[in-house]
Amino acid sequence: MLSNFKVVLVETSHPGNIGAVARAMKNMGMDQLRLVSPKLFPHADATARASGADDVLREAGVYSSLQDAIADCQVVLGASARDRTISWPSVTAREAAGRWRGCIENIALVFGRENSGLKNHELDLCHYLLRIPCDPEYSSLNLAAAVQVVCYELFVASGQEYPNTIGDQWEEPLATAEQMEGFYLHLQQTMADIGFLHPERSKSIMRRLRRLFNRTQLDIKELDILRGILRFSQNHNLK
Ligand code: SAH
Repeated sequence: MLSNFKVVLVETSHPGNIGAVARAMKNMGMDQLRLVSPKLFPHADATARASGADDVLREAGVYSSLQDAIADCQVVLGASARDRTISWPSVTAREAAGRWRGCIENIALVFGRENSGLKNHELDLCHYLLRIPCDPEYSSLNLAAAVQVVCYELFVASGQEYPNTIGDQWEEPLATAEQMEGFYLHLQQTMADIGFLHPERSKSIMRRLRRLFNRTQLDIKELDILRGILRFSQNHNLK
């Protein structure tokens, strides 16, 4: 759980957006939501859009000022799509995740109103501007989309994403180099047996076939199937 990160929404107009934010947070293992003077909350639209993340809504704290909502936070990041008249130190969520991961008790991620964002006096309360890199010609994300991107970055940086690379969670072990060599010999022999190719002229074709199979990273079951096909072709050809 990334419970040291508190998502703070300032004067959200549409309760549906609050629900969508709760859902976006819960998907990324986050549950600490704080609402500053929401226009309508609690509300059926919020619950509907939360779609299973209503526990995050139920536990959400409601505050009458941003100062109160961030009072216990050591680091305060204000998410903004806009350039400000005076430059303010800014970070991306990726940088923030790397910089403060695990070492700060409470970090506020403050998001502004749907129609007008955060006011300058609210940004004065923030240590850094939090920027989501995007097309400068069209840089304003929907509120819940902005929360989603930020929470996703924090989730990935926390190392909780499920490993799903070949070799980590593959149901069958990958073929070893020795098994692959056995397969290439068998393939070459079969191509000769069925008259597809003379072994002496097979060098460049074999190199290309090696390159093809190396790209796919065969597992042992797949290798068994291919060798079964080769055996069948050899036997069939002898009949
Ligand atoms: N029209 C508003 C933007 C509202 S979007 C404006 O002009 O500021 C609602 C909130 O989502 C913003 O206040 C900000 O907190 C967040 N947000 C949207 N796009 C963002 C971006 N590119 N980078 C950081 N935060 C963003």
